[in-house]
Amino acid sequence: MRLFDTLSRTDRELLPHDGTTFRFYCCGPTVYGPAHIGNFRTFVLQDVFRRTLETGGTRTLHVRNITDVDDKTIRDSQKAGVSLTEFTAGWTAKFHADCAKLGCLPPHIEPSAVAHIPQQIAMVEALVAKGHAYAAPDGSVYFKIASFPEYGRLSHLDTRELDLGKTQNTRANADEYEKDSISDFVLWKARRPEDGANFWKSPWGEGRPGWHLECSAMIKEYLGGDFDLHSGGVDLIFPHHENEIAQSRCSCGGHFAAHWFHITHLLVDGGKMSKSLGNLHTLDDLRERGFSPMEVRYVLIGGHYRKPLNFTLDSLSAAREALSKMARSARQLASRIGAETTFETVDFGPFQNAWDSLCNDLNTPGALGGIFTGLRDAADLTGSDAAKALAGLNRVLRALGLTLPEPDEAADADVPTDIRALAEERWQFRLAKNWAKSDELRATLAAAGWQMKDGKDGYELSRG
Ligand code: AMP
Ligand code: ZN
Repeated sequence: MRLFDTLSRTDRELLPHDGTTFRFYCCGPTVYGPAHIGNFRTFVLQDVFRRTLETGGTRTLHVRNITDVDDKTIRDSQKAGVSLTEFTAGWTAKFHADCAKLGCLPPHIEPSAVAHIPQQIAMVEALVAKGHAYAAPDGSVYFKIASFPEYGRLSHLDTRELDLGKTQNTRANADEYEKDSISDFVLWKARRPEDGANFWKSPWGEGRPGWHLECSAMIKEYLGGDFDLHSGGVDLIFPHHENEIAQSRCSCGGHFAAHWFHITHLLVDGGKMSKSLGNLHTLDDLRERGFSPMEVRYVLIGGHYRKPLNFTLDSLSAAREALSKMARSARQLASRIGAETTFETVDFGPFQNAWDSLCNDLNTPGALGGIFTGLRDAADLTGSDAAKALAGLNRVLRALGLTLPEPDEAADADVPTDIRALAEERWQFRLAKNWAKSDELRATLAAAGWQMKDGKDGYELSRG
């Protein structure tokens, strides 16, 4: 499998560093509310990425954290008047439930930031000892970015933007900040009244970790100094991932991630999602409007991860149609297998192009297009050929994490088996261009009260 790498800006083959297991880290959700469909674009694409590796026979180790202590979780737990633990436990459970509905595999390891405070303190101590960090008079500790000349390489900050000399004595204490305010960033935040009960003892006094530090400490714990890939949405390239690189490279050696996989943002109605615009969709909102999580997943994988994807309610309706069309054609393919039960799966058959698209920079829209072309190409296959094709289709669907809808549309409902068999027989005559037989069976079906509407890659039956 080949994938674009943000750091080298090239397509690169993905190979497990240790020769056996592909080990990767994804920045997880900040659990202070329900995840929105923009967050899920990133999590779903990471899931397709993992499933593609596994479908291709590569073992994976997927680590994704839970950000359960930061500026936002503390602020909102206080607003809600509950403890940070109680507050974040509820949103973590909600996140897990939404992921399951979307068909996302749970990570193999899911560490929480609060459960790794000693590891974070140890990392700050190592950075201070090596001269990469210093304590400010209030007891906060900052990373000295002038001490790491490689700072800015991932986000390709040019020298004009990045004058490390100018960062002396400028400090950012907030978790999030913009590129034009590059400065030493906070590793450990001294206790403030607004933190309430959320503070821990450290060599620099009471306080709490900065957000960037959390991922570096959990990565060190579960993946060590060298691992295969790191991923998140594009908004994390700067400063979050830049800061992770600085902290990890300077504290534990190693090269850190060998590959960087960033997912471009989801837009809604052509613009940014925001609560104030009322366009911040969650799975629950969309469910209320009658759309299923699988339809949401279809929309999210309908665009290439390196391009912005514009989400509209119309795109969900189109996804519904596409999924039911795919399901109908797949059922027709299955119905042509007949009594055949033994066959060998050697490749993806008519779905080879769909699979190749996934292996070529995770081209999910290409894979969806390839499925429809494959179904069309498989329209005249029967017996073991149909069985092999169906096995190929199911492998691609598994890699995409798509579950096709059950037949509940009017077109498919309650079709008796003898009528279905007649329709299938006629379809085969039609494919063989035996127009006389095809017309004869169409008339037989009509006499039994069924209309057959022909499409490019299948047919629909309706009463009347
Ligand atoms: P957060 O819960 O804010 O820490 O974000 C979780 C993940 O969602 C991160 O990888 C973000 O980069 C990603 N993300 C946030 N907004 C969007 C968006 N609109 N489109 C795609 N990914 C996003
Ligand atoms: Zn992170």
